[in-house]
Amino acid sequence: MQKTAAIKIIGALLCFAAAGFFVIRSLNGSETTHEGLPEKTVLLCRNPDCGGSFEMSASKLKPQLVEGKLPPCPRCGQRTTVRGHVCPFCKEPYLPVGHGSRAKVCPNCGKDIPP
Ligand SMILES: [Zn+2]
Ligand SMILES: [Zn+2]
Repeated sequence: MQKTAAIKIIGALLCFAAAGFFVIRSLNGSETTHEGLPEKTVLLCRNPDCGGSFEMSASKLKPQLVEGKLPPCPRCGQRTTVRGHVCPFCKEPYLPVGHGSRAKVCPNCGKDIPP
C-alpha cells in the first residue's frame, strides 16, 4: 500500500512541476527578446517578381530596423519586405492580413490558425 501512495505523491509532484514550468515559461515570454522582437522574424518580400521569404534573428534584425522600417529584401534589394507569420502546422510563412494581424486560415495548408 505504501508503494502506491508514494507513486501517487510522485505523480502529483510531477504534475505541479510541469504546471510550474509552463507558468514560468509564459511569464518570462521566452519567445520574445530585444524589445518585443521575436527570436526569429520571418520576412516576406512583396515584390511580385521576387516573392522571397527569409528569416532573421532578433540580434541581426534590430540594427537594420531603421525608423521602424524593415531591412530590404536580400534577394531583390527592394524595400518591399513585410513581417510574416509562420503557420504552426506546416511551418510555412504567410503574409499578415491588414495591420499585422494574423490570418484565420493558413493559405498554405488551410488549417485554422489559433490566435
Ligand atoms: Zn525580394
Ligand atoms: Zn499552414
